[in-house]
Amino acid sequence: MLKIGITGGIGSGKSTVCQIFELLGVPVYHADDRAKFLMQHDPVLQAALKKHFGDKVYQEDGELDRAYLSSLVFGDKEKVALLNSLVHPAVAADSEVWLQGHQHLPYALKEAALLFESGSYRQLDAIISVTAPLELRIERVIKRDSSTREAVLARIAHQWPQDKKDALADYLIVNDGTHLLIPQILHVHRELRQRSQLTHSV
Ligand code: ATP
Repeated sequence: MLKIGITGGIGSGKSTVCQIFELLGVPVYHADDRAKFLMQHDPVLQAALKKHFGDKVYQEDGELDRAYLSSLVFGDKEKVALLNSLVHPAVAADSEVWLQGHQHLPYALKEAALLFESGSYRQLDAIISVTAPLELRIERVIKRDSSTREAVLARIAHQWPQDKKDALADYLIVNDGTHLLIPQILHVHRELRQRSQLTHSV
């Protein structure tokens, strides 16, 4: 089974594209959702977060205090890097177990906003980048999250530029509202199935 990463800047349409892959029967590991789950449920990760950021990152009822943790790391690159260095290995290990469970399929997808930034692309066989123009991405996220332009730009500042991701990717899906999505997804789907067969026959 091929392990395929799918990434793209905020608002590029990763989740939308993944929903279509899922309709085709392709399993998708949602790394960002899973990271949130692990921060709440993985005892080793919980202990590491408490050790480095203090017991108060968990409330008395055991719930992770996301707002407090965000306030601790906000605007501090070193603390953001420390937080990522705790969370990313936990997600990497968890996704590896998940991927092992899908060995019988031609390929499975791992969706992550920071696939390149975290270095996790190195464990994958190929990467799909979902790409869209910056202004369109900003508009989409403002609408989706009822967010402000400034808040969206602040989130974008933590990510690599879209063109850097596109240059490193093996497959591009252009989600600019002009190019049709489904034919592009079907094309990549066919290529990956074919590539998987070739891999198995070697
Ligand atoms: P994030 O990194 O924030 O999770 P994302 O890359 O997963 O973002 P989506 O949530 O898939 O992006 O898309 C952002 C918003 O744009 C959503 O509300 C989605 O419905 C909308 N959207 C995505 N693609 C299109 C499209 N081709 N046409 C219209 N709306 C779209």
